[in-house]
Parts: sequence; structure tokens; C-alpha cells
Amino acid sequence: MHEMAIAHSLIKIAIAAAEKEGARRITRVNVVAGELRGIVPTQFTFCFSLMAENTIASGAYLGLEITPVTAKCKNCGESFVVEDYRYVCPKCQGEDVQTVGGTELRLRDIEVE
Ligand SMILES: [Zn+2]
Repeated sequence: MHEMAIAHSLIKIAIAAAEKEGARRITRVNVVAGELRGIVPTQFTFCFSLMAENTIASGAYLGLEITPVTAKCKNCGESFVVEDYRYVCPKCQGEDVQTVGGTELRLRDIEVE
């Protein structure tokens, strides 16, 4: 389950950031994940709360935002959202497209107290 590894590293980053601010507790962690990361939200939420146990992030709410896969057509330059893995330009029907979004994975921000 790769969600576990991702949750673990995100919590480590969140705790480091919170400690830097002198926070006692993390109440919310907002994460942005691209669709191509294949994260299952329910699994990820579960892993997150598990990894947060016995840390200052214990009980923190996880806000998970999944961003869509986007691509750019190399033929006409059109940028578009890829749905159902259909890598075809909607404007010129070209298939020579480059994936530009959907692989990101980052901690957007945290809320502490
Ligand atoms: Zn095109």
C-alpha cells in the first residue's frame, strides 16, 4: 500500500513545519495530490490517521484535494484535462500530447494551535 509511505512522509514534513512555528498541535493538514498518483482517498485518510498517532498531528483533519490530469498538445498548443486516460487533443484530435499535470504531490498547508 503506497498510501502508507506517502502519508508517513507528509506527516514528517507537517510536523517539522509545525515544530518550527512552535505549535503544540496540528489540527489540519491540506494535501494536494495529482490523479496520476493513484491515491485512494479512503485508504489515504486511514493511513494518515494511523501514521499521525502518538505525534502532534494525532487527530488532525486531512483535507485531500485531487487534481486532474492535464496535458498539452504538441501540435496546436491546446491545454486540456485528460479524462478516462484519453490522451487526444480535443481541438485538433492530435495524439502527440504531453502530460503537464496530475503527478504533483505536496503539502499545501497546515493549521496548528
Ligand atoms: Zn491539438
